[in-house]
Amino acid sequence: MLNIVPVRAFTDNYIWIIHNHRHAAVVDPGDAIPVLDFLRHEDLQLVAILNTHHHNDHVGGNAALLKEFSVPVYGPAQESIPTVTHPLSEGDSVHLVELALALKVIDIPGHTAGHIAYYGANLLFCGDTLFACGCGRLFEGTAQQMYSSLQKLAILPDATQVYCGHEYTLANIHFAKAVEPGNPALSKLESEMKSLLAQGIPTLPSTIIRENATNPFLRCNQLEIIQSAGSYVGSSLTDPVSIFAAIRNWKNDFVTPRREQ
Ligand SMILES: [Zn+2]
Repeated sequence: MLNIVPVRAFTDNYIWIIHNHRHAAVVDPGDAIPVLDFLRHEDLQLVAILNTHHHNDHVGGNAALLKEFSVPVYGPAQESIPTVTHPLSEGDSVHLVELALALKVIDIPGHTAGHIAYYGANLLFCGDTLFACGCGRLFEGTAQQMYSSLQKLAILPDATQVYCGHEYTLANIHFAKAVEPGNPALSKLESEMKSLLAQGIPTLPSTIIRENATNPFLRCNQLEIIQSAGSYVGSSLTDPVSIFAAIRNWKNDFVTPRREQ
């Protein structure tokens, strides 16, 4: 039985630890200190580091972890991360023998040029590409790339558990309600997520079925979103990539911009 546990870092990052009470793998350790604290406290031996993309808040703890544990570091082949020992791209797999876990690699460029996701055993680790009710900013990729990447994730099985890199859910829901005010699933989600946050509980993981029902960036074919996107740009839009690009730009200006969101 695998446990997936968030370790908080910086303002709103989640570093995900996959463990079986003996061995552990860590996804996107931006900071080593809270990870080492957790591993010591739970008496876990680290067996692998997995990175989704090169941003420092996802890889900044690699070197310090490697001083304590000599383990393989998996990461995107298309990005330069000095500590990566196993560069990966779509079609590759990671076999974490100690955890009896196999994860497939999916290329999901857009937030960064070589961003990858890890998927297997009903788990998806998608870094800063798909967020609960949102998606990452386009720092290095095009709207077409990000749209295609999100579509690859949207067709994963409904029950897939979605582990994202940040706690952005509530702000994302506020934006989603502006884009698609007639979606009743959003108000329901908002009250559920507010309740979790009030108890200090992360809003993650999400699921693919929930994202398909609530995430405006996965719903560019919905009439209300098509109309909202057209109103935002001041002309009628028909193709999904233009609609995606319009609402991504809209989101950039919607609330106090935060770096990754
Ligand atoms: Zn990032």
